[in-house]
Amino acid sequence: MDFKNIPLGQRIPAFGYAIKSKDSNFEKFSFTRHPMGEKDIVIEILFAGICHSDIHSARSEWFDGIYPMVPGHEIAGRVVATGSKVSKFKVGDYAGVGCMVNSCGECDACKKSQEQFCQQCVFTYNCQDCFHNNEPTYGGYSNNIVVNEHFAVCVPKDAPLDKVAPLLCAGITTYSPLKFSGVKKGDKVAVTGFGGLGVMAVKYALAMGAEVYVFARNRNKEKEALNLGVTKLFDSTQGIKERFNLIISTIPTSYDPMEYINLLKFGGELAIVGLPPREVSPDINITNLVYNAGRKVYGSLIGGMQETQEMLDYSLRHKIYPETEIIRADQIDEAYENLTSGKAKFRYVIDMQTLKD
Ligand code: NDP
Ligand code: ZN
Repeated sequence: MDFKNIPLGQRIPAFGYAIKSKDSNFEKFSFTRHPMGEKDIVIEILFAGICHSDIHSARSEWFDGIYPMVPGHEIAGRVVATGSKVSKFKVGDYAGVGCMVNSCGECDACKKSQEQFCQQCVFTYNCQDCFHNNEPTYGGYSNNIVVNEHFAVCVPKDAPLDKVAPLLCAGITTYSPLKFSGVKKGDKVAVTGFGGLGVMAVKYALAMGAEVYVFARNRNKEKEALNLGVTKLFDSTQGIKERFNLIISTIPTSYDPMEYINLLKFGGELAIVGLPPREVSPDINITNLVYNAGRKVYGSLIGGMQETQEMLDYSLRHKIYPETEIIRADQIDEAYENLTSGKAKFRYVIDMQTLKD
């Protein structure tokens, strides 16, 4: 499509991979996106990361999904068109999009740049877009996206786009709680769930000067952890002597949070970002919590747009990148399989140039 002269009001043709029901495989899918508004940009997607949230969503593990669904909220690409009132971008710039594409811009949450908590926040996919007739949003496993410029981050021209993509969710989701908890030099930080998010949490915590530990289900990635500078990888919570200032849980399956709360120092914090399926969503035993008083537990949801740009700038400045494996667009099912069976290492990133209609 000639993006230079998009007629006002014309819907944008798009093409990608969609899943038609929670039990099916991905298939090629043609669709259209809403017309470019005056504050919107159109991005040609070059890379899209696969987050475990994509799997939870595609399989309706949290709530019943909207199908056909085009997941993907770790998006990096090139700006190909800009609306008349766009000020942050020009055609040819690189841009990134994470989990949100719009919000009201007026409520307290938006004013504090915590757009993820806006009542009208529009998530990148599997969401009804209340600013566009409640049409479903389609994500990054596709060739383009139309987004309000406020929800796109500026990516410098020399940045590795394949590494930038996963920062837009895995990066911000782990950077944000580390900042919220004020991690400082010498703190003992543990990360449980050593996958796409976990490895980012480890890298940021190390960059912030913490002594970092990993909890995993097995020792498969022990070498990788130690090479990064992790002090120790544990494959169980039993009999651990260490006590931690902060534990970040990225676990996407059933587990008992008390096992980790028990390992906190007095005043220590458990930050929960992993979101297991609703049927196995863990409860916290409040009796045990009270008898372990003085430990704090909080949840954390991605991060606002201001913090997302800060995270990206920080990551590029410190050369903190995700551990990625590039795949073709027709390998999404295989990637999902590996991510659920424990075969995957860290982050799969789809090279969108391999998308063919
Ligand atoms: P990955 O699949 O990349 O990584 C998950 C890791 O957790 C894997 O290494 C897996 O190990 C490990 N794991 C699984 N079960 C356990 C367990 N019981 N104990 C210890 N480790 C375990 O997923 P992501 O990193 O992409 O996402 C993680 C979670 O975070 C998901 O639930 C996702 O939806 C959520 N999320 C939340 C966000 C938020 O804003 N709060 C944003 C983004 C994601 P193995 O290698 O053995 O399989
Ligand atoms: Zn994600």
